[in-house]
Amino acid sequence: RRQSERILVTGGCGFIGSALIRRLLRPGEGAARQVLNLDLLTYAGLIESVTPIDGQERYQFLRADVADLVAVSNAIARFRPDTLLHLAAESHVDRSIMAPQAFVHTNVLGTAAVLAAWRDYRDRLAADESDRLLMVHVSTDEVYGPIAAPKESHEGDPYAPSSPYSATKAAADHLVRAYQTTYGLQAIVTHATNNYGPRQCPEKLIPLAIERALARQPIPLYGDGQQVRDWLHVDDHCEALLAVTERGVAGETYHIGAADRHTNAETIELLCEQIDAALAANGAEAISTRQLVTRVADRPGHDRRYALNTDKICRELNWSPRIGFEQGLASVVRWRLENPAWIAAALERLARYR
Ligand code: NAD
Repeated sequence: RRQSERILVTGGCGFIGSALIRRLLRPGEGAARQVLNLDLLTYAGLIESVTPIDGQERYQFLRADVADLVAVSNAIARFRPDTLLHLAAESHVDRSIMAPQAFVHTNVLGTAAVLAAWRDYRDRLAADESDRLLMVHVSTDEVYGPIAAPKESHEGDPYAPSSPYSATKAAADHLVRAYQTTYGLQAIVTHATNNYGPRQCPEKLIPLAIERALARQPIPLYGDGQQVRDWLHVDDHCEALLAVTERGVAGETYHIGAADRHTNAETIELLCEQIDAALAANGAEAISTRQLVTRVADRPGHDRRYALNTDKICRELNWSPRIGFEQGLASVVRWRLENPAWIAAALERLARYR
């Protein structure tokens, strides 16, 4: 079991990064653990996602661009991490179709800068210290491109990214693996399926649908709604990243998913049921949310199906997802109703970037 005490998280003000930092600083665990969150606070990064936070005295924040080699190198030299969890990215496929350049900047050049800074840092450490370093690079199932049923993608399968988002994530993954092979960098690449949970930017499918439902506005469904996705609760993803950090083997790749696949139409249907139930429980007038679902033109290059095989992480690292999809959707709807201030901040930020 690897002891990670000084952890640098990039992208820690985003959806997954903030959940991960909350998990890392959870009271009663890892009392010696220190976390530095390096994040540019783009439209998707909210300081409200990590404030207030438990373990404040073990937490630091630095606003910086991951593509700024000098800033990243200085942050690493000052903080002296033993572990790097790299999550900072441009993450929204639709935005990558409209404006791919920002994705190349952050996902490709940003990862290149993080790798260069991390390697330089390693090379300056004594051997016993550098042996303890680990970088975990958080990637996506989308790099494999569409997978026809009943097939699944396995670790090591060839890449076939369709969108500028997945192409830039693929480039970043290749850079990480090139650093492993060429410079002996101790790194692990993870591929996760679609995440959902609290504090997800309300431009993504599930939180967008919730906002539209509460505002009684049309809920957009792309094309025929038959695109198949696996849904992983963000807390299950964070547990998996912790398992990878503590017990994963450097140089390996791990898939992370819930093996709970649904078409987008089913996902929206299940969500509508949970929204109706939550509103009814709050005493709201009974209305059928599913009537708001409206088909819109499909996303260009929209992959029909992703399906990761996750046997390796379950078997080798003894991890498995715990949160069922319907239960998870219900808790996300509840979280939304109980956290209007976070939503207001996220919507205000989004409106400025439209
Ligand atoms: P997100 O968009 O919610 O958050 C991204 C964070 O990165 C934000 O806080 C943003 O401010 C920060 N950031 C963006 N550009 C930056 C830059 N140049 N320098 C520093 N910080 C910058 O994304 P997310 O959904 O939390 O995803 C996190 C990671 O997980 C990404 O690498 C993504 O590719 C990967 N991933 C996400 C999913 C998912 O379903 N959300 C699934 C698999 C993998």
